[in-house]
Amino acid sequence: MLSREELKELSEIKPDGGYYVSLYLNVNPVTNPRGEYLLHLKNMLKEASESTDRAIYKKVKDDLEKINSYVTSNKREFKKGLALLSCEQAGFWREYNLSVPVKNSLVIDETPFIKPLLDILDNNPRYLILLVEKEKARLFVVHLGEIVEYGEVETPDVPGKHKKGGWFALAETHYQRHIDYHVGLHLKEVVKRLEAFLSREEIGLIFIGGSEEAVAMFKEMLPETVKARIKGQFGAEMFLRPDEILQRVEPLLAGCEAEEERRIVDELITRAMKGDSAVLGLEDVLNAAVEGKINTLVYVEDFRATGSRCRECGFLTTQSLQDCPYCSSAMEQIDYMVDLISQMAVEKGARVEVLAHETDRLKERGNIGAILRF
Ligand SMILES: [Zn+2]
Repeated sequence: MLSREELKELSEIKPDGGYYVSLYLNVNPVTNPRGEYLLHLKNMLKEASESTDRAIYKKVKDDLEKINSYVTSNKREFKKGLALLSCEQAGFWREYNLSVPVKNSLVIDETPFIKPLLDILDNNPRYLILLVEKEKARLFVVHLGEIVEYGEVETPDVPGKHKKGGWFALAETHYQRHIDYHVGLHLKEVVKRLEAFLSREEIGLIFIGGSEEAVAMFKEMLPETVKARIKGQFGAEMFLRPDEILQRVEPLLAGCEAEEERRIVDELITRAMKGDSAVLGLEDVLNAAVEGKINTLVYVEDFRATGSRCRECGFLTTQSLQDCPYCSSAMEQIDYMVDLISQMAVEKGARVEVLAHETDRLKERGNIGAILRF
């Protein structure tokens, strides 16, 4: 999973004579039904071999070969986007299988090219999930539907209840105080770790799980700035697997996403109605995409549309045409117009919002829309 800390480390790499190859490849099986990405990669590699300074090319030849064999011999299922960063000379290699589209590019430079990864981090909400109990806490991040555990805090010297009481009954209040003291220490440590993690990763939304009692005690101790970011809490046991935690927290995340979707749909429809740099419906959205005018593309998750594309000049239309009106070549029929538009928009720097919850109002208006740059 992408993390702000990892990208910060990558951004701090200083040139020291070596060269990095950064590849971003649209591997989405929908827009590459015949594995077209292999051809795109081949073209980019060829272009690199022709346009790169000889001395530099020699330095990255191994990297290019490694990248090529990773993509071509890879039997695993790709998601939508693939990012590979390589510098053999420095023993450096990173691979990211991304569930969002990326713009094809191959960059050879003295440092890794990470701007597209930073954009993905910025444009897709990340949620921090904290499980907290009286002697243990676990921290997770959810991003693009994936959950990753980032660490735990354990303060084992919280005495168990079995130690209290015994034959020296008078000591009970003393033990209780002892327990409270240790629980307090533990929770304080969790607060400290949480704050450090939040400042490193810049995550705005938090969900807290655990027993009601522990969560309540913990929230008491949080500074207001952190408390304000808590979007919900849920019951959970400390031993749950990450996928089980994700399941528990899913309804809460859905609520958050629905809220964000509502905000975007509001803006889209209001602006489209006023004629203020926004369009609705496939035809207008396609035109805006072709002209590179889209700032935010918005569509209903299961929306599909057909169209046709000219194999020669690339002309694209929502109609089903046999011959291209511009160059008379044969048109290819396409049943994945939405993915194609989405890819075009991303290539021109747009962000894409796929609606999973707040779908009704856009369904009534053609299932797709776009907020424009100007
Ligand atoms: Zn044509």
